[in-house]
Amino acid sequence: MRWSKYYLPTYKEVPKDAEIPSHQLMLRAGMIRMLTSGVYSFLPMGYRVLRRVETIVREEMDRTGAQEVQMPVLHPAELYEETGRLKNFGEILFQLKDRRARLFALGPTHEEVVTDIARAEIKSYRQLPQTLYQIQTKFRDEFRPRFGVMRAREFMMKDAYSFHASDESLHDTYAAMAGAYRRILERLGLEGVQVQAESGAIGGDINEEFIVLADAGESVMFRCASCGYAANDERAVSLGPAMLEKELSAKMENVATPGQHTVDEVSAFFKVSKQRLVKTLLYKSKWRDIAVLVPGDRELNEVKLAKALDDPDVRPMTPEEVEALTGAPVGFAGPVGLKAIIIADELMNAYDGMIVGANAADAHLRGVKMGRDFKPERTAPLSTVVAGDRCASCGKGELQLQRGVEIGHIFKLDVKYSKAMRATFLDQEGQEQPFIMGCYGFGVSRAVAAAIEQHYDERGIRWPKALTPFHAVVTPLNLNDESTVGAMERVYAELKAAGFDVLLDDRDLRPGPKFKDAELIGVPMRVTLGERNLKDGNCEIFYRLDDRTDVVPLADAVASVRRYYEA
Ligand code: ATP
Ligand code: MG
Repeated sequence: MRWSKYYLPTYKEVPKDAEIPSHQLMLRAGMIRMLTSGVYSFLPMGYRVLRRVETIVREEMDRTGAQEVQMPVLHPAELYEETGRLKNFGEILFQLKDRRARLFALGPTHEEVVTDIARAEIKSYRQLPQTLYQIQTKFRDEFRPRFGVMRAREFMMKDAYSFHASDESLHDTYAAMAGAYRRILERLGLEGVQVQAESGAIGGDINEEFIVLADAGESVMFRCASCGYAANDERAVSLGPAMLEKELSAKMENVATPGQHTVDEVSAFFKVSKQRLVKTLLYKSKWRDIAVLVPGDRELNEVKLAKALDDPDVRPMTPEEVEALTGAPVGFAGPVGLKAIIIADELMNAYDGMIVGANAADAHLRGVKMGRDFKPERTAPLSTVVAGDRCASCGKGELQLQRGVEIGHIFKLDVKYSKAMRATFLDQEGQEQPFIMGCYGFGVSRAVAAAIEQHYDERGIRWPKALTPFHAVVTPLNLNDESTVGAMERVYAELKAAGFDVLLDDRDLRPGPKFKDAELIGVPMRVTLGERNLKDGNCEIFYRLDDRTDVVPLADAVASVRRYYEA
């Protein structure tokens, strides 16, 4: 490819509306352009990288025996009514009407569509298992599209779905998919972790995410250095802090705390750590008022609460509802004497006493004991884990917090969709059974951004070998010198003939800007042709990842590139 003719608009300035490095670099390196919020075009450079990811993902899917299909993007809304997801997806689902006012959705994922295919064709256990996958555009009207293609409203996903007659068969495919995901990350040159996760709108209890480590990532996970436990923040549990501060007061006392509302204010007022305080958070569940107790130094995890109550619609009380229930302004709720069902965080079991709101303005209770002064209906893991907590899996290690980008998510769906959609087969005994299913998503376009988050420096992108849009840039320093032009055409032709993707920087520019651009777009090797070296029959090879330059005979240029990519 000749740069002078290539559609590769680069720019020096860091775009103001791009917050994270990958988004900035994808714009600056001419990879993507925004059409509207969360909707992007991939320009030639970006599309090359996207296709490299696709190829690796496709090869690894095929290797597991999954079969590639292409399902529609336009979905009749009735399918989503069958599974209840027309409501559950809420505003995420893009909806539109056809000329007869029939409602459609743009596919955010394809459980319904693939289950509809299977229920029409697969009749017997003899036709199972089956795994279908596709690489396709997905649509989600994200609440907060941001970070470029990292969280877009239109994006590329690889989604696979498996159908089974038994749990063991599902387990085998699930394990094969997890293996394929690990290989994909390794081949892409990405450092990732496999963590236990929550299933969100997809459903199913056993599910794991693949997280690519990156400081700018939106996913938070906790890992135990001693036993290898790893879970995302929605799922992670712990044994709490290594040390728990003792409560000094043995009996319950009412203390006036004028003007002290926040955890910080109240803990400073009592001169105790925030951990001693217990927050009372009030929620409305289907039929009941719920008071949730969590340690003052932690947040309530609403996903865990919804799970503990088995109520996805549980919601915080409004200030008016809080005042009506407690008889006090917001900020002074407490469990003692409260007319609500109390659910306490599991960590509360280790508390010998606590400080809580007194359900009266400007007052708190100290020396409160759970069991003696109030009785919870039960305890459950409800609070967020904090870095440094003891690991619940091995009981010894410390949990460490890491950030990353969710790149893949695999689920054992069990019979969630097949039951709802009456998708059944006849088992060996001739009994009708719902399919046992799994689903496996991978963010293809997000992977491009995630790769950059792991591979960049102040000068630009540093592509891993498997992803680079070009294997080498050939950079002539002086296009007015005949020997340079001759050498450049020869090296360019030889590299192409050897099967490499080459960018020839034939632009009429000074060397400085050419070098800068080549480093910005992140090509791992640059073959530089200058009069001085050419006089001795040599060229210069610059290795972007090692920041190293070699002078080699011009005749060895192709061999050097081959050596680099074969290593
Ligand atoms: P997130 O928690 O980031 O919103 P999700 O859990 O909703 O993602 P899944 O339904 O598990 O996503 O989709 C499978 C994969 O598709 C994700 O692991 C991610 O890599 C990718 N993906 C999901 N949403 C987006 C998006 N808005 N933009 C780009 N890629 C996405
Ligand atoms: Mg997910």
